[in-house]
Amino acid sequence: MEIQPKQPSAKGPADLFTGDVWFDVIAKGEEPSRMRVNVVRFAPGARTAWHSHAAGQTLHVTDGRGFVQSRGGKVIEIRPGDTIYTPPGEWHWHGAAPDHFMAHLAMWEAPGEGDGPETEWGDHVTDEEYNAH
Ligand code: MN
Repeated sequence: MEIQPKQPSAKGPADLFTGDVWFDVIAKGEEPSRMRVNVVRFAPGARTAWHSHAAGQTLHVTDGRGFVQSRGGKVIEIRPGDTIYTPPGEWHWHGAAPDHFMAHLAMWEAPGEGDGPETEWGDHVTDEEYNAH
């Protein structure tokens, strides 16, 4: 057993996020584990850029109000207690509502060797896309 002290919070970089996003790494499994768990906190209006995860992703909302959208789908409101599963390779974004903070757990797996990048990143979510809720 190992008690792992809390690491400093990290700011989500501006090339991958719009607005203020901070994350805390909760678990980063050592091989053979590929487990990845972060707590991610979004300020009102903040969101990820469009992206997809090689091995999929599960989000669990713990606070506030937010939105998710899959490419070609509707912008959907998410609330505390909601769990959102995104399958491997599906393009999507997640973020806070315009007038609420939002926090979620993000759980995913690192890809296996030779499986390509863990997360593929695309364009920022425009205000027009974001406001289509
Ligand atoms: Mn995601």
